[in-house]
Amino acid sequence: MNHEINRLLNYGLQNGMIYEDDIDYSANLLVDLLKLDTFEKEDIDEKLETANDIIENILSYAVKKGLVEDSVVFKDLFDTKLMNCIMPRPSEVINQFNNLKEVSSKDATDYFYDLSVASNYIRKNRTDKNIRFKKFYKYGDIEITINLSKPEKDPKAIALAKNQKSSNYPKCLLCKENVGFAGNVNHPARQNHRIIPLKLNGDNYYFQYSPYVYYNEHCIIFNKEHKPMVVNKETFEHLLSFVEQFPHYLLGSNADLPIVGGSILSHDHYQGGNYEFPMDGAKVFKTITHRDIQIDFLQWPLSTVRLISKNKEHIIHLSEHILNKWINYSNEDIDIISHTEGTRHNTITPIARKKGDNYEMNLVFRNNRTTEEYPLGIFHPHQELHHIKKENIGLIEVMGLAVLPARLKDELTLLEKCLINEADINDYESLEKHKDWFEEIKNQEWTKDNVKDQLQYELTKVFVRVLEDAGVFKLDEKSKKYFIEFIEEAIEGEE
Ligand SMILES: [Zn+2]
Repeated sequence: MNHEINRLLNYGLQNGMIYEDDIDYSANLLVDLLKLDTFEKEDIDEKLETANDIIENILSYAVKKGLVEDSVVFKDLFDTKLMNCIMPRPSEVINQFNNLKEVSSKDATDYFYDLSVASNYIRKNRTDKNIRFKKFYKYGDIEITINLSKPEKDPKAIALAKNQKSSNYPKCLLCKENVGFAGNVNHPARQNHRIIPLKLNGDNYYFQYSPYVYYNEHCIIFNKEHKPMVVNKETFEHLLSFVEQFPHYLLGSNADLPIVGGSILSHDHYQGGNYEFPMDGAKVFKTITHRDIQIDFLQWPLSTVRLISKNKEHIIHLSEHILNKWINYSNEDIDIISHTEGTRHNTITPIARKKGDNYEMNLVFRNNRTTEEYPLGIFHPHQELHHIKKENIGLIEVMGLAVLPARLKDELTLLEKCLINEADINDYESLEKHKDWFEEIKNQEWTKDNVKDQLQYELTKVFVRVLEDAGVFKLDEKSKKYFIEFIEEAIEGEE
C-alpha cells in the first residue's frame, strides 16, 4: 500500500493538484484514511493519464481490510474521500482560475476542466463508456448518447438508502454547499468538487462542470441561492454576460415550466460548454432584419428564431419583448393556447453564443399544455414514442443531442438479434414496449453487417419525431406562416 500512496502523490504532483510542500501533509491524510501506521517516501517515475489504476488497487485493499463495503455506492464514497487527500483547497482553485482568466478565459476553463477530470470528479472511465453516435436525418447530424455513467445501486445500498435519514442539507445537488460534502447512500460524495464564483451582469453565480459530461466540457452555472428557475429579462442578460466572458462556450437555460423544463426546476441554473450542437448547423428558412438585429428562422423541429447582432443590449431588449408576446400568444388553429384558467403554458428555452463580434440568442418556443388525448403534453413526445423517450425534452435535447436511458443498450442489442432472426421478440418482456416499432421496421433488409448501423439510424428517426412532437409551430407551410406572422407582429410593437 505504501507504493500505491507514493504513486497517488506523484499523480497529484504531476497534475498540479498538490506541490512538494504538501507531500507530508497529503501522505498523512492517506495514512489515516487507510488505517496504516507508517509511511515511507519512494521516488516514482511514471506518467499516468488517469488515477483509475491506483484507485482500483487502493479500493481492493480497502475492501480486503474491511475499510469499505464491496458495493459501488460505498466504493464511490470512499474513493472520493481518497482523492480529497490530494485536492487543492477551493480558494486555491479559484485564485488559479481567476489568474488564468485575466489573460485567457480558455486557459482558465482548460485548467478547471482538466482538474475536474484529474480529481476523478468527472469519472471519465465511466463517461467514456456512454454509447454515442451521429446520423444525418432531415435537419442535420442528429446525435444520440445512451448514458451508462450513472451506476445502478445494488440491493444493499437500496436497503440502506431507505433507512437514511433525509436531511435538508445540502438542499439539492446544485447548491454550493456540496463542495466538500462527504455524501451518503442518497447523495454523492463531493470532496473533490470545486466551483468558481462568477458575476453575471452583477449577479452571483458559480461555475462547475457536470460530473456526467453529456458533451465536451459540459458546464453548469448555478445561482448562489437555492431559488427556482425563471426565464425573464435577467436570464438573457446572464446568458450574454457569460458568453462575453467565455466566448468559446455556449450557455443556455432550460425552460421554467414543468414538462418542457429540465429535471431540476428548484435551483436556478444554466448549462453550457465547448460544443457545436446539431442545431448550430440547422438551415435557415427565412431571415428578417429589425434595427441592427438579424432574425433567422431555423429549419429545426423545435420552433426557433436566432437573433444576431453586435449590440448586446438590443438583443436583450428584443428577446424580452418576444418572450412577453409569446407568453400571451394563442392560436387555436394550431393548438397553441397560452393559458387555461389562469395557468400559463408558454415559455422559452434560450441559448446564447458569441461568434466574433456578434452575439447570438436562440429563442426556442415551448408550450406545456396537456389534454385528455395527450396527458403528458401536446408538445411533448407522444405515446407511441415513449418506448424511446418519455421524459422532458430539455435544453440538451432541444439542441439535437438525445440523452437516452441506460436500459436501451441491452434492449437495442436484443432487438438487433430479433431483426436478423437470431431471437424472437416475444421471448423478451423488456422488448414488449418496442413491438410496434419492430413491426414498422422489420421488413427492411437486415443483415449481420448492417443491423447495428441501420438500427441506430431508425433510432435517430424516432428521436427526430420526438423533437417534432415538441415543436409548437410545425414545419408545414401554414404553421410556418403563423410563426413568421407572430414574430413580425411582435417586433413591430417593440418600443
Ligand atoms: Zn439548490
